[in-house]
Amino acid sequence: MTSRPNLKDFSPERLREQLATAGLRPFRADQIVAWLYRRGVEDFDSMTDLPLEERRRIGAEFELRALEVAAIDRSRDGTVKAALRARDGSVVESVLIPEEDRTTLCVSTQVGCPMACSFCATGFLGFTRNLTTAEIVDQVCRMREVAGAGQQISNVVFMGMGEPLLNTEAVIEAVRLLVHPKAFGLAPRRVTVSTVGVVPQIEKLLESVPVNLAVSLHATTDLVRDQLVPLNRRFPLAVLLDTLRREKRLSARRPVFVEYTLIGGVNDALADARRLPGLLHGIPAKVNLIPMNPHPDSPYEAPSEASVDRFMRELAARGMTVTVRRSRGEDIQAACGQLALRRTRDSAA
Ligand code: SF4
Repeated sequence: MTSRPNLKDFSPERLREQLATAGLRPFRADQIVAWLYRRGVEDFDSMTDLPLEERRRIGAEFELRALEVAAIDRSRDGTVKAALRARDGSVVESVLIPEEDRTTLCVSTQVGCPMACSFCATGFLGFTRNLTTAEIVDQVCRMREVAGAGQQISNVVFMGMGEPLLNTEAVIEAVRLLVHPKAFGLAPRRVTVSTVGVVPQIEKLLESVPVNLAVSLHATTDLVRDQLVPLNRRFPLAVLLDTLRREKRLSARRPVFVEYTLIGGVNDALADARRLPGLLHGIPAKVNLIPMNPHPDSPYEAPSEASVDRFMRELAARGMTVTVRRSRGEDIQAACGQLALRRTRDSAA
């Protein structure tokens, strides 16, 4: 692997510093950023407003691509899932989800994941390493090419492989590039970082960048959450929810998105639906219910339509803002980690 830094590892401000350290003119940072992110150009020969000699020097000092597309699966419903290969051969996944009013890209933050959530395909892969900022940002660059000119990525969610708040520094710098007006220029409300509850990092994220926070709750008792999300043994429900309750940056205008994967017979009972509003009392929250998309390595099952409906109605009746997020791309195993798991199994076979 190369030891040269990657241009995509740095926000425009930090890139200025890096260029200066390398003896290059700092103001070139704005030109480079415009080529890379606004115009999607990754070839120094095309960066014609930079003098040839400076292009050569920048090319000698820095890398500019971190990922290559290894495989693409397209679903009947328009969802596109890509396996992207890093320079060390590691493979991560990104999923593009077109909807009527937006196109959302789901990005990964780690190769595998150490959290071992028992319902998650990525949890079965184990953990290899954190992604760099450039590897996170390059998922947007590569998937923008995959999407083509007619489809603009409008939203980015950090909900792919890995726990983003175990890689907080790289995630924060990637968010800075996503929302920076000179880089991708996304509105901050269109970027969401999800966590299973790495409590000490929540405040750091929210004070550093103006993104949406999503918390994967998935249970209303510690007994069940301990089984689904082993991190709960370290940061139990009361600790996690108290942290959210005390977080001053959350408000009705900037609520936390509470992700709740409904698993048949595990956490989809009426009693859970009745407990949840009490647990979230005092927290500006919107609840997303996600019916489980079962995968072959998981012992868990999808909930019945009736239990999804009952759960949603119960929350709505208790004044909660609640939506049901249907699985997309089931025919291409688009749930987090499923493609990589399949590839790992195939190569083992
Ligand atoms: S659900 Fe998220 S945190 Fe848990 S194992 Fe899967 S990728 Fe990791």
